[in-house]
Amino acid sequence: MVKNLLSDRVLKMSVSATLKMTEMSRELKEKGIDIIPLSIGEPDFNTPENVKEAAKLAIDNNLTHYPPVPGLPVLREAICKKLKRDNNLDYNVNQIVVSTGAKHSLANIFMSILNDGDEVIVPSPYWVSYPEMIQLAGGKMISIPTTIDDGFKMSPEQLEKAITNNTKAFLFNSPSNPTGAVYTFEEINNLAKVLEKYPDILIITDEIYELINFEGGHFSFASFESLKDRVVLINGVSKGFAMTGWRIGYMAAPLEIAKACTKLQGQFTSGASTISQAAAAEAISTNPEGSEELKTMLSQFKKRRDLLVDLLREIPGVTTNVPGGAFYLFPDVSSYFGKSFGDRLIKDSSDMCLYLLEEAHVALVAGDAFGSPECIRISYATSIDNIKEAVIRIKNSLEKLK
Ligand code: PMP
Ligand code: GLU
Repeated sequence: MVKNLLSDRVLKMSVSATLKMTEMSRELKEKGIDIIPLSIGEPDFNTPENVKEAAKLAIDNNLTHYPPVPGLPVLREAICKKLKRDNNLDYNVNQIVVSTGAKHSLANIFMSILNDGDEVIVPSPYWVSYPEMIQLAGGKMISIPTTIDDGFKMSPEQLEKAITNNTKAFLFNSPSNPTGAVYTFEEINNLAKVLEKYPDILIITDEIYELINFEGGHFSFASFESLKDRVVLINGVSKGFAMTGWRIGYMAAPLEIAKACTKLQGQFTSGASTISQAAAAEAISTNPEGSEELKTMLSQFKKRRDLLVDLLREIPGVTTNVPGGAFYLFPDVSSYFGKSFGDRLIKDSSDMCLYLLEEAHVALVAGDAFGSPECIRISYATSIDNIKEAVIRIKNSLEKLK
């Protein structure tokens, strides 16, 4: 075998906890074990018919050659129109870069802006891939802790305290994965006032859950004229249009950044799948206000959220808040840490998730990977029956811990 086979870069990196748990539950299911998968963060709905038709048409029309690196004009134009229609934001087509999922857009931005030691401020709990991507690009994540009691939202004072001479960017995600927290206009405005004082800080706003919002009102840092020229807006079609497998995300950014990300992408992927881009153009052209699919999906998610909150609150020692968006709950289960079932000791959320997977046959994701070892993440993008059965199983397994 080759000596020192793998790079330090990749050895230092963790496996995605969300994808790992999903893989584990898939494997157990294939072995015939009746696992309820509440680990994966993706809508359990199908891609709308008109979107699928657009993809079929793209194939028939031989849209099968390399795309322009930053995306097909039809999609980049649709994104500009969407940003105007839904967010009242003015962007030129050359400020839009389409990538292989919002995940890839995020990877592009970190690789394009970070030098070794540059700091990125991230409210915690955060999505599992942020720290890994930042580290891979040479940056250092500075996390700001938030708790269930403050609805998992950071204050302007916390933001200001985290800023140093090395701060390169502030990464913001509302509605949030894993907490579902949705910041109000006033809360964003207060954070914006802090950022106005620091003109050398970039603002990266991950708006992938924009459409999964039960409170209404989505506000972007890009709508502040004082900040817009240093905001990088990330979004995509995975969540709002049930298109996770199509792998299309995008950024809207200051021109210099869009060009840098295009250069990077030109060397790494040559751009995203043309067929998926044609489908995404159709999806993004749909006005969410009039979309029956979106309305159905949202009302189902809200029903499930309410049910899951009620059921979890009946379990002693489990604390949860009511999140305003996305499709996750992030309850605190730390009152069970230190307890055992036989000789199995539950020390932290990783032990808890493994225990619940093996004992309750419910797949969840441990809070450690999201920066919150007291909590576990439950995705309620599944049926009402699955939710009811999962909570019964979780409750029974927790009762066994002494
Ligand atoms: N950001 C957050 C917060 C997410 O939860 C996800 C989950 N997939 C992404 C970005 C990336 O989405 P995708 O690559 O599927 O567009
Ligand atoms: N974002 C989803 C999640 O958090 C999908 C899996 C992933 O890419 O992490 O579960």
